Amino acid sequence: MAEDKKLVKEITSMEEDFAQWYTDIVKKAELCDYTSVKGCMVIKPAGYAIWEAIQKNLDARFKATGVQNCYMPVFIPESLLQKEKDHVEGFAPEVAWVTQGGLEPLQEKLCVRPTSETLFCDYYARTVQSYRDLPQLLNQWCSVVRWEKTTRPFLRSREFLWQEGHTVHASAKEAEERTEMMLKVYADFCEEDLAIPVVRGQKTEKEKFAGAIATYTIESLMHDGKALQSGTSHNFGDGFARAFGMQFQDKDNSLKYMHQTSWGMTTRMIGAIIMVHGDDSGLKLPPHIAPTQVMVIPVQMHKEGVLDKARELTARLLKAGIRVKLDDSDRRPGFKFADCEMRGIPLRLEIGPKDMASGQCVLVRRDTGEKITVELAQMEEETGALLEAIQRDMYQRAKAHRDAHTYDVRTMEEFSDTVKNRPGFVRAMWCGCRECEDRIKEETGATSRCIPFEQDHSSGTCVCCGRPATKMVYWGIAY
Ligand SMILES: [Zn+2]
Repeated sequence: MAEDKKLVKEITSMEEDFAQWYTDIVKKAELCDYTSVKGCMVIKPAGYAIWEAIQKNLDARFKATGVQNCYMPVFIPESLLQKEKDHVEGFAPEVAWVTQGGLEPLQEKLCVRPTSETLFCDYYARTVQSYRDLPQLLNQWCSVVRWEKTTRPFLRSREFLWQEGHTVHASAKEAEERTEMMLKVYADFCEEDLAIPVVRGQKTEKEKFAGAIATYTIESLMHDGKALQSGTSHNFGDGFARAFGMQFQDKDNSLKYMHQTSWGMTTRMIGAIIMVHGDDSGLKLPPHIAPTQVMVIPVQMHKEGVLDKARELTARLLKAGIRVKLDDSDRRPGFKFADCEMRGIPLRLEIGPKDMASGQCVLVRRDTGEKITVELAQMEEETGALLEAIQRDMYQRAKAHRDAHTYDVRTMEEFSDTVKNRPGFVRAMWCGCRECEDRIKEETGATSRCIPFEQDHSSGTCVCCGRPATKMVYWGIAY
């Protein structure tokens, strides 16, 4: 028993120290580890399997909207990066440069991509000629490098994995529609597959992407009341197109500039899954993206027929399309149960001599700890239904937590007090001016997360300056 408890005892309680709890989970669930490369991490098989599941689900959603995958170079020549002024200013402080190739200094230094707008622009400028070539709907799965000063597993590292979609269109209207469409793809993915509720909205001028005319975002709330930007979609208008000479011949034979979008989601979402769903026993994976949905654990494995039965049940679940594994290692069941909980496997199936005698097995939910006795004859249907119930309930619990930690404030005193004492989303009216946004950050530490598409106040006064305001904004302390 000592060994079983040890597994859990080594996790710091989340109420005691959330940051340490997070680090413990990452380590004990074997998701990732530090490396000799400063600011970079190794994503271990258990962590990478979650990323693969994210990729698979998200990629299918992209392709359903006509997107195709491609691959761009990891290097960007300095001259290309500098073509769009706002963009280069936005990224300059965190770009890594290659100045030497082999033994020779390079004529022109190359940056390691922090994002690939410029490469896609260069490509589209050379390959799109006519309205018939539009739209171009491309995406790449790759890693990017941003020279961050402080790093945290999955949340901030110098190299991270992501996807970046880049599209070009014949009209401003089409580009705007695509920008909104991709934000909806991200929001649906988060809510339906990751069981993470999101607020959809627009970034303020201050917080928008370098070079964009509009940035849309989905924002989620972590268990500790901090916000996480979970996916963004940008409309560039024809700004990059003008800087890169991206023109096409339209139906009326006139030359026009293309309208462009980009959108991305990263390995941060693994951090979000940990921080939205996890508890003091470990990770909790939503069934839709759990690499293993069910772990079969034989009890009194040495008794005749138990292991055979466990193998048979595993094969049956596999055949029913459920991602299942059998733990037939020689560790004691108590250790296996705790290990399953640590790794966040949504359901464990226990089968022992007594269960076999009564033609039953026991399913244990990771999210609630509830034990459900199931007739072996109905095992597949019951397991499938339980996985869906877990997925639904995890979303509902996360939503209830977020709603209970979303506060409306009307004065700066209330604002500061809320940020200090009740971590969560703060909703407040804002006049739209930059000075108030800056002052709010200075006085409370909170940044604007988004101007939500759904506005429930039509008018009021700015929380900061008291002038008339028409926009309700979500604010928060962000990761
Ligand atoms: Zn104001």
